[in-house]
Amino acid sequence: MNGRSSASGSGRNATSWTIRGRESVPGSLRSESGDPVRHAGRSRAAGGRIKIGVLALQGAFRAHARRLGELGVGVGEVRRPEQLAGIDALVIPGGESTTMSNLLTSSGLFDEIKARLSDGMPVFGTCAGMILLASEVLDGRPDQRSFGALDATVRRNGYGRQLDSFETELPVAGLDEPFHGVFIRAPLVESVGPAVEVLATHQNEPVLIRQGCVMAASFHPELTPDARLHEQFVRLVHDRDDRLQLGSVPARRSEST
Ligand code: GLN
Repeated sequence: MNGRSSASGSGRNATSWTIRGRESVPGSLRSESGDPVRHAGRSRAAGGRIKIGVLALQGAFRAHARRLGELGVGVGEVRRPEQLAGIDALVIPGGESTTMSNLLTSSGLFDEIKARLSDGMPVFGTCAGMILLASEVLDGRPDQRSFGALDATVRRNGYGRQLDSFETELPVAGLDEPFHGVFIRAPLVESVGPAVEVLATHQNEPVLIRQGCVMAASFHPELTPDARLHEQFVRLVHDRDDRLQLGSVPARRSEST
């Protein structure tokens, strides 16, 4: 891990991120079933494959769909509210969070996705997707909306001009080898709440975080051929699905009505 001095000149001060309400403890990816990361494509006990939606209003959604497809799960592009019905989880890609916020509202998807998120639908947001999941967005446009599914404060384009875009090797909790992180005008995670696990940092700043079924990366895992983070997400979806089948978490609305 590089020292913080190499970030000097990025336009941000040297204070590190904070975890609100507790000491900073780097997390590790915990499988709720206790299983090691395993391949994603197994069938669900109650028939059919897991299907993951990729929000396809704008941005880097095709690369996400490719990575997920390689893992053997069902994939569906989501542009309209009715396309949420058949999906078990959602990926929110990178792009421009302001534009996506507008399109989410005009398409009628914002409220529907928010409802599914409060029902516990797993979600993986990358870059702009992380911004859209955060509870607080700094340097956003005043009318920009976010789902508030992740107890984190993020600053849009927070890496400043000199580090506008960069690539680096990231050690990630739960992965044996580092992951190649592609950062493009990435959000900076300034603070996280106590329920948030930090799975990877770059120069002491969180860049991969998780809160229950909500995963977010400030970089673009879909822009490398390495599907390990998508695999972690798919496992998380399977874990939730297993618990739904066992009745240990409440079924989402579509299943309970
Ligand atoms: N800077 C963009 C935003 O604010 C995010 C960039 C990205 O997703 N690559 O939404």
